[in-house]
Amino acid sequence: MSTKINQNYLKLNESYLFSEIARRIRVWQSENPEVSNKLIRMGIGDVTRPLPRSVVDAMITAAKEMGEAETFRGYGPEQGYDFLKEAVRKYYTKFGVELDSDEIFISDGAKSDLGNILDLFDKDNTVLVTDPVYPVYVDTNMMDDRKVIFAMSSEENDFLPMPAPEYKADIIYLCSPNNPTGAVYNRESLAKWVEFAKENGSIILFDAAYECFVTGDYPHSIFEIPGAREVAIEFCSLSKKAGFTGTRCGYTIVPDTLEREGGNLNKMWLRRQTTKFNGVSYITQRGAEAIFSQEGEKEIEENIRYYRDNAKIITDTMDKLHIYYTGGKNSPYIWLKCPGDMDSWSFFDRLLKEAYVVGTPGAGFGKSGDKFFRLTAFSTHENTKEAMERFEKFVMKTR
Ligand code: PLP
Repeated sequence: MSTKINQNYLKLNESYLFSEIARRIRVWQSENPEVSNKLIRMGIGDVTRPLPRSVVDAMITAAKEMGEAETFRGYGPEQGYDFLKEAVRKYYTKFGVELDSDEIFISDGAKSDLGNILDLFDKDNTVLVTDPVYPVYVDTNMMDDRKVIFAMSSEENDFLPMPAPEYKADIIYLCSPNNPTGAVYNRESLAKWVEFAKENGSIILFDAAYECFVTGDYPHSIFEIPGAREVAIEFCSLSKKAGFTGTRCGYTIVPDTLEREGGNLNKMWLRRQTTKFNGVSYITQRGAEAIFSQEGEKEIEENIRYYRDNAKIITDTMDKLHIYYTGGKNSPYIWLKCPGDMDSWSFFDRLLKEAYVVGTPGAGFGKSGDKFFRLTAFSTHENTKEAMERFEKFVMKTR
């Protein structure tokens, strides 16, 4: 007799993309030690700006409280402290979205909840993801052996696939602004997805991790769309908004109006969280609360502006070179068509070898990324400028 394992893990692809990028950089560095310090990384998804001052101050105060018997706190509510849920609730009113505080669940980041939410769904459900895709959606479903189908995107639909009869699925992942393409759905398009989900009894898992980059009249939240409360769950992250990639905090919105087969998804998620999760640390939640204060919002706006300026340096270069791209305007990601009809790994190699610039090959995000490349706005101004000067020279040389 032997313990049976989840065989689905054996079917997962190796997490190939970033390890292959690292391997190619190592080879290049060992062969070119004299220029290896000139390397600029424009592919990373991590941020470079530190935590805002008001967040740090709030966490110091909270840490001190934890060191005094009178103010010490032990286990907190699994779904988050009221002070943070209230801050999130108020934040949503800015987009005209009214939430009940019980619909807000504080998490240790969007990635965990995007995976954990699948506890609520049968393994027989069919899942739709858009391609190119944030790999977490696919891998977490493969771990449960769910069938995943792909809505392909391309230049033709500006990387914003729309509902079609062949995309009928029980669970639909949408990410807007999108990683990796930076494309953002407008209200009309998102309303069509909501309608499609309603018609088919599907649930949309809406990933709003990059909502803070939205400008103009694009939706920050799917709950800005009428009817979404009956079909959607939303995941949000403080990682990119406030430099919380290492601090870890986010939130998930499960409307109490979302029901399927006699089950209330909000109640089910509460049950799941109170059973399998013991909440985010008090110190972190106080830090997160500060993000929504007046001072915090000002500081965050400065950080976001910093990344937006980087994105503009990149998109200006693409415009000048007449290179097709999506993103950059409402997103820290710029998804560009590889010049000269190159495939994304060939472009990666040449950009590394001839310009000492690293980006992310689109092929790593799915079939429709084969001839595309992702750059991010998370570097410093100096490096972004220098990288784009080298990028321009390189492209001009290849023409
Ligand atoms: N969703 C998308 C689309 C992301 O790109 C990321 C992080 O890169 C996440 C979720 C994860 O966010 P968190 O850091 O909150 O886990």
